[in-house]
Amino acid sequence: MKLLTRYLNKAILACQLLFSQLQKLLAITHLYNHKKLEAHKVTIYYIIIIIQTFQEVFLIFNKTGQVKEIFFVAGLAWSPVYVVAAEEPVLFEAGFHCAGRLYEEDIRDFLNGRNPKTLFLTHVHWDHCGSTAYLKKCFPGLKVAASRISAEIIRRPNAQNLMKRLSQDVIPLVGQVHGVDKEKLIRDSFEPFEIDIIVDGGQTLNIGGGLTLQVIATPGHTRDMLSYYIPEKRVLFATESAGVLDQADQIIPEFLVDYDLYIASLKELKKLDIDVLCQGHHFVFVGDDVKRFFDRSLEAAKKFRDDVQDLLISEGGSIERVVHRIKARQYDTNRGVKQSEKSYLLNLTARVTHLARKLQN
Ligand SMILES: [Zn+2]
Repeated sequence: MKLLTRYLNKAILACQLLFSQLQKLLAITHLYNHKKLEAHKVTIYYIIIIIQTFQEVFLIFNKTGQVKEIFFVAGLAWSPVYVVAAEEPVLFEAGFHCAGRLYEEDIRDFLNGRNPKTLFLTHVHWDHCGSTAYLKKCFPGLKVAASRISAEIIRRPNAQNLMKRLSQDVIPLVGQVHGVDKEKLIRDSFEPFEIDIIVDGGQTLNIGGGLTLQVIATPGHTRDMLSYYIPEKRVLFATESAGVLDQADQIIPEFLVDYDLYIASLKELKKLDIDVLCQGHHFVFVGDDVKRFFDRSLEAAKKFRDDVQDLLISEGGSIERVVHRIKARQYDTNRGVKQSEKSYLLNLTARVTHLARKLQN
């Protein structure tokens, strides 16, 4: 039903857009009929309008490849590496450990043999930094940038062990994704790595060709969470700071450590002028869909908090029961590509526990 509503919404938007584009076509035809525009110019205008329409109708991008201009999604849409082919090519996020080769092949292709200079990590969860060590080996000179807290977390043996376990669990699931060549998946254990460059919220870096990169501290999902913004291209790498639209058209609010900080970060990001929004998994939003996504994401976070509050009352305060109830409606009904049950439960339990504590105070 939700999927149907989503496609219906898209169809309505597409109709509105087609209507406005049709008006432009009629205005041009009118000018031509009154001999105010030559035939060859009319043809050029027609082609521009058709290309624009095509780009706008397909606003949500959920595959790998070029999104627009110098901006690409590499490897695996489920947990991608984002590539900006700037004068100094840069990468954002490092996805799953097992998908290293898939990222590498796409990065080489998108950058035409140039080496990426810096890999910017938003945070060091296993599914967002998994291929860091592999990519460093593939691209000599590649430096890894992340927050100070990320650099500390990645050195902890218990964090590394959890990353190893979760990275291993996901391999069979990635092998089932349509179009993924199982032979290319890396089956060795997740490899830890060092952070080379510490970055912090408020910093602006130069990535060449007149492009800058703003680092924004967006805690809430995790304490180390950073977002990255290229104002000249209006591209935002928010990943899990903004919530995640999953394959079943549900937005999963991602406040693992602090609900209020998560909402504050989301509201800060929403204020930016954004044309391309990269979430952590599955989809990239372009154009008008960005604002709609932020509105939906804020609404989803508030609804989740209210639901947990109600469920905690009806389940007599049992976090385990509340987790079970939410999983049944959110995870078990999702027939699309999704994270392993273990990983989902870790994430959900963290959110419910946090809210339960918060509501007690
Ligand atoms: Zn995460």
